Amino acid sequence: MAAYNLLSETDTIKQDTSTNPLTQNADSKWHDPVDNPQITLHNFSGSYDPDFSSFGGHRGRPHTGLDIFAINKKTKIYACMKGHIVFSESIPGYGKSIVLEVDKNELEKHRKNYSLKYDKEVIKGNLYDSGNKRYILYAHLNSYEFRKNEVEAGDIIAISGVTGIAEGTHGPHLHIEFSSKKLPQKGDGYKYRCNPLCYI
Ligand SMILES: [Zn+2]
Repeated sequence: MAAYNLLSETDTIKQDTSTNPLTQNADSKWHDPVDNPQITLHNFSGSYDPDFSSFGGHRGRPHTGLDIFAINKKTKIYACMKGHIVFSESIPGYGKSIVLEVDKNELEKHRKNYSLKYDKEVIKGNLYDSGNKRYILYAHLNSYEFRKNEVEAGDIIAISGVTGIAEGTHGPHLHIEFSSKKLPQKGDGYKYRCNPLCYI
């Protein structure tokens, strides 16, 4: 509730914060990637354009993640689940990034019946359901804050930033992806990925 002056800039992603009974054991615990996650409502030019931030957002190319409002150098980024950090390096376009590997079955306990809300939004690509591991990618980070690669839900792993966006942005954000493939490749598009709003 600290960000009253930001309310006009953002859109609440979820209202219901009640605890899912399936999340009681430590392996299945969940923590949102930022406190009070809200989708960014403005595009990089500063115009009101929430569809720009969604998974599938219109940019003339696939937007393969979700943009969540995050203040540059201030917002704490959390491990959503118990997992293993398998990558922490810069990626062109993504900037400083972290990939957290989690168990597919544990992640699926947090899947919601999400109904598409934005114009170009999609639910998932056709290869998302393959394999036993899932990968949560956090991008545009300012700094890495984890001490060991094994993390629990709610551990702070990074501070948000604006790295990887050469042209700058009017909507400082965390770009987050859920994938069945460890690292994104050019041309994959939505193929291995899922709309993060199915979980966040
Ligand atoms: Zn993005």
